[in-house]
Amino acid sequence: MKKLANKTAIVTGASSGIGRETAKLFASEGAGVIVVARRAAALDSLVGEIAAAGGRAVALAGDVRDEDCAKRAVALARERFGGLDIAFNNAGSLGAQGSVTEMPLDGWRDTLDSNLTSAFLAAKHQIPAMLERGAGASLIFTSSFVGYSVGFPGMAAYAAAKAGLVGLMRTLAAEYGAAGLRVNALLPGGTDTEMGRAAASTPEQKAFVENLHAMKRLASPVEIARSALYLACDDSSFTTGTTLFADGGVS
Ligand code: NDP
Repeated sequence: MKKLANKTAIVTGASSGIGRETAKLFASEGAGVIVVARRAAALDSLVGEIAAAGGRAVALAGDVRDEDCAKRAVALARERFGGLDIAFNNAGSLGAQGSVTEMPLDGWRDTLDSNLTSAFLAAKHQIPAMLERGAGASLIFTSSFVGYSVGFPGMAAYAAAKAGLVGLMRTLAAEYGAAGLRVNALLPGGTDTEMGRAAASTPEQKAFVENLHAMKRLASPVEIARSALYLACDDSSFTTGTTLFADGGVS
């Protein structure tokens, strides 16, 4: 039996990296997946790849900072797959970087919008649909080792947003546990994606990041996707309000 048979999932940030691998993995485990990001062509190619492998996916090109995008994703899950069981709210970007003493307020706000407010908007519209399914629904936020496990010079806004996701997650887990909705945060370590490469673009920076990890390497995105699958499926049926570290031993 596939782990996500008869389930419907929303995966944001699905045009590349961790989200793309997770969408493919969820689909291969039987879920119908709504894949969300801004780059429409990348989503279309992902939907084609999933279909060619026998899976089901629908693209939604949109910006997770817009509430309408959150609404449309849930509406599509209902229309195309009959409801919503799993949400992997994973879209994010490094945003404004540098010293807080130099950081413009709009850069700070936009970074929080991309990484934290986007998760609030998503959860706001996903939760009512997920509660209709009864027990077995799973809401997951992609946080980060940055900000939670280690301070990273120049990444104050991103770190604050990612740590904020853990507070949001714990609150929602407490509010909806009795209704059977599980809410967890996944905290990847450095991962070999577009973002991971941008954050460590020189050999020195890459070596610095790798050395933060006990395993002395970056993760591949599919390694993080497997942890997302664990949180999404019934293997984690008594797990809620937790931080799952897939970080090669940073903490
Ligand atoms: P990628 O850059 O490969 O993926 C980021 C994804 O987020 C893309 O699909 C991008 O799509 C999407 N995205 C960004 N901003 C928006 C937006 N405003 N609206 C819609 N989609 C958006 O990086 P990762 O796969 O590494 O990142 C995935 C998550 O993992 C992020 O939340 C990141 O913070 C987190 N993370 C990453 C780590 C790493 O080392 N790579 C470590 C720890 C956490 P598009 O541009 O098409 O909109």
